[in-house]
Amino acid sequence: MTEILDLPYTIQTIVEKKVWVPGKLFSIKTTRDPEFSFKPGQYARLGLPLGLDEDEKTPPASDMTWRAFSMVNQPDDEHLEFFATLVADGLFSPSLYDLEAGDTIYIDKSVFGFLTIDQFPQGGTLWLLSTGTGLSAFLPMLNDPKTWELFDRVILCHGTRYINEFAYTDMIQSVKERYGDRFVYLAISTREAHKDLPQKRLTDLIVSGELAELAGHPMDPEEARFMLCGNPGMTTEARKLLGERGFKSGRRGNLGNLAVEKYW
Ligand SMILES: Cc1cc2nc3c(=O)[nH]c(=O)nc-3n(C[C@H](O)[C@H](O)[C@H](O)COP(=O)(O)OP(=O)(O)OC[C@H]3O[C@@H](n4cnc5c(N)ncnc54)[C@H](O)[C@@H]3O)c2cc1C
Repeated sequence: MTEILDLPYTIQTIVEKKVWVPGKLFSIKTTRDPEFSFKPGQYARLGLPLGLDEDEKTPPASDMTWRAFSMVNQPDDEHLEFFATLVADGLFSPSLYDLEAGDTIYIDKSVFGFLTIDQFPQGGTLWLLSTGTGLSAFLPMLNDPKTWELFDRVILCHGTRYINEFAYTDMIQSVKERYGDRFVYLAISTREAHKDLPQKRLTDLIVSGELAELAGHPMDPEEARFMLCGNPGMTTEARKLLGERGFKSGRRGNLGNLAVEKYW
């Protein structure tokens, strides 16, 4: 692990790579700068020197290619972890997918994002709606004791196309074992039958009322707080649907009950 003082990034090393779905979903663990601190739900900017001279160890940040990735790990873990999709014709993710343990990755020293539990008033039900890798931002919240001090229950909804895209299920199961009835996990696949769950988009399940029914809990703006994370189709539509039900983002220091992060 190296830190170069006047650069806006640190140079880190991949310590582990896991492929969840070959050619599609993977995660990487990296070394971490001790100064890099974040809250669950925030994201880092990862950089690669795409198309640059390989001998240049500290290229100018403006020459590198950067992309945002939510931290999956806990703030006090030794390593950072990121869960990623390989976008076949993407600029950055194919090169990220090709990295192996021992390879270098650049990480911006700054931390970004406002999808954090301190955006909400204390108490009530925390709904976490994600599609695809949007799950990433919510994983550190599930393991953060503060989440369970602040909210009565947590409902995690993960929408994917296929069943094999339900990642981190062991970790989610361990949260269930710890928090029991206070935690509901709904893994919804649109293209394959999964348990007794409907094969529908999360937004369709909001409209039909099935999501509240499956969760065993109403979507009441008086007590529920919603976070949305993932593909912009879901976040935009869900924001609109929840807005019609009385949910609002926080503004000018007033806490809201709706927070949204789009991945593209
Ligand atoms: C705040 C924020 C946090 C993010 N966190 C993550 C994360 O934790 N994990 C992650 O995989 N990506 C995350 N992303 C997306 C990531 O930054 C890149 O956009 C993604 O890796 C694709 O980059 P690319 O250069 O390969 O694709 P580009 O050449 O930039 O092509 C962009 C296209 O790729 C597709 N795309 C982008 N991101 C995704 C995705 N996550 N899943 C499916 N399709 C996608 C969309 O069609 C988009 O139009 C995040 C984005 C933002 C804004």
